[in-house]
Amino acid sequence: MEFRLIERIRELTAQPRDDVRLGIGDDAAILAVPVGQELVAAIDTLVDGVHFPHGTAAADIGWKSLAVNLSDLAAMGASPAWALLALTLPDADADFVDGFAAGFARLAQSHRLALVGGDTTRGPLSISVAVHGFVPPGKALTRDRAQVGDAILVTGTLGDAAAGLHALQRPLAVDDSRAALREFLIERLNLPTPRLAAGAALRGQASACIDISDGLVADLGHICNASGVGAEIDAALLPRSSALMSLYDDASALRFALAGGDDYELCFTVPGKKLSDVQSDLSRIGCGVTRIGRIVEGSGVRVRGADGEWLVDEPQGWEHFA
Ligand code: ADP
Ligand code: MG
Repeated sequence: MEFRLIERIRELTAQPRDDVRLGIGDDAAILAVPVGQELVAAIDTLVDGVHFPHGTAAADIGWKSLAVNLSDLAAMGASPAWALLALTLPDADADFVDGFAAGFARLAQSHRLALVGGDTTRGPLSISVAVHGFVPPGKALTRDRAQVGDAILVTGTLGDAAAGLHALQRPLAVDDSRAALREFLIERLNLPTPRLAAGAALRGQASACIDISDGLVADLGHICNASGVGAEIDAALLPRSSALMSLYDDASALRFALAGGDDYELCFTVPGKKLSDVQSDLSRIGCGVTRIGRIVEGSGVRVRGADGEWLVDEPQGWEHFA
C-alpha cells in the first residue's frame, strides 16, 4: 500500500520512548522489555458494520480500535507501552487515514503509547490493533481467582454504549431538547475510556478482573467460569448514568446495563477486608466505583430484582428479557 499513507500514520502518532530501539520503517520493530517486568500482549479486530456502525467518523474508529485493546490491558492491570496496527482499507483514502491516525494518536499519546509498526492492505474496512504492556512479575490481574464471599464491583456506569447504539439507530427530531444526553450516550459507544489507572490500582487488590465488552452478565460469567464460583448481583445497585435514566424507561435501562456490550468498564472482585481500601484508592484517582453484588458458591450469574425475585437466573438464561 502507499508509502505516503504509512508516513502520515507515522508522523501523526509519533511518541518517543526509550524502549523503542527501532519503530516504523524497517521490516520489524525492535523493543526492549524493561528488566524485571512481564510483557502483557493482546489483540482485537474491529470490522466495519460489526464492531462499529457503518459511517462512524474516522477519528472515532481510530480511537475505539485502540481503546478496546487498552481496555484488555487495563483488565490485566498492565501499563501500556507499544502497539501494532493492521489496517485494511477499501481504497487509499488519505482523509480517512488522517482522521483515523488523529483519533488513534489522541488516545495513544495520552498514555505515552508508541505505534511501532503494522501492515496496510486493501480490502473491506477492518482494523486489528495489537498492544503490549508491562506488569510486575506475578502481579497481573486474571479471571480465575474470585473467592466465595468476595464483593463484586464495577467502574463507571453500565449500559450507556448499548443505549448509544440504540439511539443512533433511530431518527432525532431537530429541536430535541434531549440531544445533549443522546450525544453523551453515543460518545460512550464511539469513544470508550479504557480504565488503565483503575486496573493498575487494582494490582495486588482485586482477586479477579475483566473488562465489560460483551455485557455485564456475560463477562462476569467468564469470571465465574474461570474461578469455579457463582455471582449474585442486585439490579438496584447497578450504576446507571443520568443520561441513560432520562432517555430510557427503567426496564430498558436495566436491560442495557445487564446485557449491553461496549461499555469497557472493569468488573472485578475484592475480598471483604480490602474493600474500603480499593474504594478509596479508585475514588482518589477520580474513577467511579460501585459494589453490585457478591461471589457465592455454585456457578453462573444471578440478578436479583427490587422485590427480591430473580430476574436472571443463569445458566437457565434470560427469560425475563425475551
Ligand atoms: P513489509 O513489506 O516489510 O511488511 P510494509 O510496507 O508492510 O513492509 O511496512 C513498512 C513499514 O511500515 C514497516 O515498518 C511496518 O511496520 C510499517 N507499517 C505498515 N503499515 C503500517 C500501519 N498501518 N501502521 C503502522 N506502521 C505500519
Ligand atoms: Mg507488511
